Amino acid sequence: MLFNPQKHNLEYSDPETRELMQKVIDFMENKGLKSIKKDWHEATWNHEFVAFMKEHQVLATLMTPKGYGPDNSRWDSSRIVAFAEITAFYGITYWYTFQVSMLGIVPVWLGSNDALKQKAVKLLQEGSVFAFGLSEKEHGADIYSSEMKLHAKAEGDYLANGSKYYIGNGNEARLVSTFGKMADSDDYVFFGVDAKHEKYECVKNTVHHANYVAEYKVEDYPVTDAEIMERGPKAWDNMLNTINVCKFNLGFGAIGLCEHAFFEAIDHAANREVYGNRVTDFPHVGRLFTDAYVKLCAMKLFAGRATDYMRSASAEDRRYLLFNPIVKMKVTSQGEEVINHLWDVIAAKGFESEPFFEIAASDIRMLPKLEGTVHVNMALVLKFMKNYFFAPTDMPEISRRSDACNDDFLFNQGPTKGLGSILFHDYKAVYQGCDLPNVKVFRSQIEAFVQLLSKAGPDKSQSKDIDYLLALGECFTLVVYGQLIIESSAHQDLSEGLLDEIFNVLVRDFSHYALSIFSKASSSEEQRERSMQMVKAPVANAAQSEAIYNTQVMTLKGQYVAG
Ligand SMILES: Cc1cc2nc3c(=O)[nH]c(=O)nc-3n(C[C@H](O)[C@H](O)[C@H](O)COP(=O)(O)OP(=O)(O)OC[C@H]3O[C@@H](n4cnc5c(N)ncnc54)[C@H](O)[C@@H]3O)c2cc1C
Repeated sequence: MLFNPQKHNLEYSDPETRELMQKVIDFMENKGLKSIKKDWHEATWNHEFVAFMKEHQVLATLMTPKGYGPDNSRWDSSRIVAFAEITAFYGITYWYTFQVSMLGIVPVWLGSNDALKQKAVKLLQEGSVFAFGLSEKEHGADIYSSEMKLHAKAEGDYLANGSKYYIGNGNEARLVSTFGKMADSDDYVFFGVDAKHEKYECVKNTVHHANYVAEYKVEDYPVTDAEIMERGPKAWDNMLNTINVCKFNLGFGAIGLCEHAFFEAIDHAANREVYGNRVTDFPHVGRLFTDAYVKLCAMKLFAGRATDYMRSASAEDRRYLLFNPIVKMKVTSQGEEVINHLWDVIAAKGFESEPFFEIAASDIRMLPKLEGTVHVNMALVLKFMKNYFFAPTDMPEISRRSDACNDDFLFNQGPTKGLGSILFHDYKAVYQGCDLPNVKVFRSQIEAFVQLLSKAGPDKSQSKDIDYLLALGECFTLVVYGQLIIESSAHQDLSEGLLDEIFNVLVRDFSHYALSIFSKASSSEEQRERSMQMVKAPVANAAQSEAIYNTQVMTLKGQYVAG
């Protein structure tokens, strides 16, 4: 299941895309781990990679929607996420440059300024990177409080004043999509500035990293209507819709990092002997590796299936708005757990300066904290819980979506309100279609959770207590996670043993979150009783776990050797 660049085992809809991705892999393999680590240690921005992308028109091909650029360009999320996984395999630096470029260009595509779209096409072809200027130093996740202002001067002429903080590519981007307000009316506005303009000051890199995460200031920066992408409520919607589409890549960033770290960890452990034992022969090491592998497979299955829903979304089918934030917060935080498990095995090796693992161990922490936090996303996810559990309806069945088409709806997502009225197909039908032993246990946990919600749901004060709601949100997220994993397994050549082992892990996680509800100070006796009904042990199957370890984990040894 793991992506191995030296085998290039990803699937694409057309040979041109494979060829393009192969060039990316060749660039990275030729650059080599030594050079990647040198840049990472010296916090050198990836100029070389940006030049390579220009030469091969990588961003222009992947980020120009159909109709605006050459024939092979289209907005095809299936190949965008493949690119995210490939770049992250070599380091978050390469992934981040692309990710924030995508965040920077989507407000242009979503906006109503056609001339600016033509300019963006040209900038893409000239090899520029882009940036997304939303966050401000004093306001963090509180985007309502944005202080960046556009002052009207004369008809169609404005001056921008303000600053932004934590803005990727803010050092180089020729178009920084900047979110702010009109000084006179307080209306939202999205406009573009150029990092090379004399009135643009790139103050500093806020982090010591090869990523450039800028603080920038604009003082009396001249803006005309030509640079304005959108105004008013639609500017706000476009900002959120940009995040909906782009934050998705965080999950694939985590997957790529974990895959590389996995290959290194298994090679190290399988070739090392302590006390006359091979490290991989210790039973706890087997458990850690198997759990890490199973979690990583689950991340891939869920994120892949969520991609299908995003590509198939429409005004009538907005299920992707639940699945996308879960890719962002759950897949990325599962990535942290995968790295923790691997690090527990390889111990001191994880600190060494030459291997890749040091990059993965450090940068995996970043992903759940980019564009909002786990808590902010969990608060969002909770809005869907009522309809998901209590108002399932018939919805179109979504097929696997790796076809070569432009994801038109992503540029026509409409207003961002009404999340609580989005409808879902029946999760029960999906779970009932799978009778593996650990899926059955998981089903009983879901049933107990639904009983808790319907018979002893949060009272008035708990409903206002985000800490309490977050504990419920973790259980809800697990149900959705498991559902899409089952759906995804039907489209893949996945052994029943692996699927059952994934649910063995999910059952344990469910029990863990149930205990957290149990131990909340405000939980009532009935809530405590009902949460304990959710605590279950997985069905152990030693032969199955051993088979996965021997045939799927240990066989990864020696499969990827960095150049
Ligand atoms: C490496 C890096 C790169 C970044 N790149 C960009 C970029 O290119 N462009 C950009 O615009 N931004 C970028 N960001 C900013 C990122 O979006 C913010 O970090 C994020 O929005 C959270 O803001 P904060 O870290 O200041 O946390 P704060 O807003 O200070 O939040 C602190 C805590 O408050 C709680 N909280 C806040 N609001 C809520 C809520 N509504 N519900 C529940 N809990 C809440 C959470 O528990 C959170 O952990 C980047 C950040 C990093 C670290």
